[in-house]
Amino acid sequence: MVVGVLALQGSFNEHIAALRRLGVKGVEVRKPEQLQYVSSLIIPGGESTTMAKLAEFHNLFPALRDFVKMRKPVWGTCAGLIFLADKVVGQKSGGQELIGGLDCTVHRNFFGSQLQSFEADLPVPNLASKEGGPETCRGVFIRAPAVLEAGPDVEVLAVYPVPPDSALIDQLVDSQEGEKKVIVAVKQGNLLATAFHPELTVDSRWHTFFLKMASEIEEGASNSIVTIEGS
Ligand code: GLN
Repeated sequence: MVVGVLALQGSFNEHIAALRRLGVKGVEVRKPEQLQYVSSLIIPGGESTTMAKLAEFHNLFPALRDFVKMRKPVWGTCAGLIFLADKVVGQKSGGQELIGGLDCTVHRNFFGSQLQSFEADLPVPNLASKEGGPETCRGVFIRAPAVLEAGPDVEVLAVYPVPPDSALIDQLVDSQEGEKKVIVAVKQGNLLATAFHPELTVDSRWHTFFLKMASEIEEGASNSIVTIEGS
């Protein structure tokens, strides 16, 4: 398995270091043709407008969209989540080019500006618990986006409870009953997305989760090729 990391801007070095700690080599991707040599891709956090401009400059969008359509495993963190969303709100003017594929509406700066960056413990039932420890992870939220609405095929992996007295409540979609929460980690088929930054912590469970998901998808793909060949 060769894991590519989109290396235009943002925390790509931290993702590569996190993969290295798991004994996996992450390969920097900056040009469309480099996507042919990786079997999965991580899109790091950073600044999504800048990243989109650089991706446009390098003519990466068609190849990135093909990669997603070919059902190759892709994990977007923070700005990467914004890139993968089918719909983004909370942008200033004009918006930015997106890859899309994730049936979600994402608020680009749901949690506010750099000054409103924060850390929080999130319940994460899908991650293996740390030895004897609770199934929570430390979420590092930096100018963080959030998922406001998710389609029927989207599995919610983590939510952040929005306190009733928080101004953030006004940004939520109206339909929520009871305790208000916002989605901060999702999975849809070959796509994984987190609003926070696991690569900035020493906890490697999200990277392990993605690698397992990627190897299952790759195994499924090669089995179907064998079936076609053998049929
Ligand atoms: N909200 C930021 C953006 O629009 C993303 C922040 C991040 O990746 N840490 O690009």
